[in-house]
Amino acid sequence: MATAILPVLVAPLKAAFDLVLPPRCPGCGEIVDGDDRFCAGCFAQLHFLGSPQCARCGDPLPHDIDAAAECGACLADPPAFDRARAALAYGGPTRQVVLALKHGRRLHLARLMAQAMRRAGGAIPDDAVIVPVPAHRWRLWRRGFNQAALLARQLALQGRHDLAVDALERIKPTPMTKGLSRRQRQKNVAGAFRVARPDAVHGRHVVLVDDVMTTGATVSACAVKLKRAGARHVEVLTFARTLRDWQHAEGMTGHGQD
Ligand SMILES: [Zn+2]
Ligand SMILES: [Zn+2]
Repeated sequence: MATAILPVLVAPLKAAFDLVLPPRCPGCGEIVDGDDRFCAGCFAQLHFLGSPQCARCGDPLPHDIDAAAECGACLADPPAFDRARAALAYGGPTRQVVLALKHGRRLHLARLMAQAMRRAGGAIPDDAVIVPVPAHRWRLWRRGFNQAALLARQLALQGRHDLAVDALERIKPTPMTKGLSRRQRQKNVAGAFRVARPDAVHGRHVVLVDDVMTTGATVSACAVKLKRAGARHVEVLTFARTLRDWQHAEGMTGHGQD
């Protein structure tokens, strides 16, 4: 996939990875000659997402058609969010980076991931508010932090945007969703969230942040609540998203949040 990447996009992204990651490749753990970079093998496996893509959900489209074109799934069943963008396809080295954020090097990785997300998402309006997908407190107790909140904090810092970490609240835990269909996942997460701070989102352009978007059921459930609370625009920004052909190849997902 790397061959399809425009050099103009790769250069800054590669520079960002070069700056921040440890001397061992974050994809495979192999020692690399320079500081803070992926090994050549892993870098070649990174699948950067970009056009042609669905104007709404960001799903890759087969042909470079109208920039406003939406995919069949969005046309048939429009999601509650206005737009979703992700930096990379989930799988391989990208999956390892997501796992590493949960287990260590948090600040370095969060900075790097947020940089890649900002490039993928394009300009965020100055008056936007950044809101992470919340974790249930059981998960917080166990892990001690919410990786979506780490990414949201970095995005807010880098773009000098308002941050509302507590705007959304998860009011029920969602069980592991591996193997469930899109409909089953949607049912699973419906009612899992509430807007705890309507004042933080009313009339605002909300950038909803998570590490990985799988079926979109989680972010859709959040977007429904945000819109009901008066958010004028809900944009989803994630580090990675699963693509349909990757879902089977990687045995998705074990992530448990989506
Ligand atoms: Zn590697
Ligand atoms: Zn779409």
